[in-house]
Amino acid sequence: MPDYAFFHKQFMPLAEAKIGILTHALPYGTACFEGIRGNWDSAQERFCIFRIKDHYKRMFDSCRLLKMNLPYSIDEFCQLTGELLVRSGYQEDVYIRPLAYKSSEAIGVRLHNLEEDVFIIVTTLPSYLDIENGVRCCTSSWRRVDDTMIPPRGKICGIYVNSALAKTEAQESGFDEAILLTQDGHVCEGSGENIFLVSGGKLLTPPSSDNILLGITRDTVMKLAKNELGIDTIERQVDRSELYVADECFFTGTAANIAPILEIDHRPIGTGGIGKVTAKLQKLFAKVMLGRNPKYSDWYHIVSPKAPI
Ligand code: PMP
Repeated sequence: MPDYAFFHKQFMPLAEAKIGILTHALPYGTACFEGIRGNWDSAQERFCIFRIKDHYKRMFDSCRLLKMNLPYSIDEFCQLTGELLVRSGYQEDVYIRPLAYKSSEAIGVRLHNLEEDVFIIVTTLPSYLDIENGVRCCTSSWRRVDDTMIPPRGKICGIYVNSALAKTEAQESGFDEAILLTQDGHVCEGSGENIFLVSGGKLLTPPSSDNILLGITRDTVMKLAKNELGIDTIERQVDRSELYVADECFFTGTAANIAPILEIDHRPIGTGGIGKVTAKLQKLFAKVMLGRNPKYSDWYHIVSPKAPI
């Protein structure tokens, strides 16, 4: 199946979507993006693009941080994304990536007086972390960027060097994923996921003031835990050692879904297996992301390949 792009206001095969090597975003990371899942429901032969509006809303926020204006409204982006998905011909789970970037072929580091452009691509993405068997993590020797450096509430391309340093260090040391701490040593998040602890029957997760990306899966999990399991989430600063004594830990993210954490820094978390609350949330999430729970219809953008474009 050829991957497809919406680029320069046209739909085209990904192979035809090219940019010049002087593009400003390449050396300076002056771009932002989203990662959105289109979940294929084979029983109903349709996609559920999960929380697409929230993803585009976050992209608009990221663009504001980078002084960029997007040429379409959120609704127009949703419509274009649906059309791209239908044109791609996929009938399996897909990963959709819109990216806005400073497109001037110009040298000189800045945000102002530059042209900008946006594209959307659709491709497949196998499970990013092992959600069935769980993952082993280390705390990273790299610290998460601070709001005074590059605002982490934006999904800004340049920030991902911070994530890449941590991910590679973790994997080259034999772990699956890194947990980054803030400058002052509090728990922040994974290289591309938010983190939750289950402790004393409640969920615990770092707050937005601790330099996390405000994850859409994080928000989904907090709402499902509250509405479906009656479990509250406390958003507060989390010490590193709280991870070691937690009953359960898991990551959340669009690419990772809900990934159980079995071990951190060579210490088993809880029983060292997948925790009960984590497993319940995984089950709830698997259903909701297919668009099957009418209670959460606001989260679903249903696209049927059979419907006329
Ligand atoms: N933190 C970082 C650094 C990420 O890249 C992501 C993935 N977008 C997340 C957290 C999780 O966010 P979401 O649930 O919106 O995908």
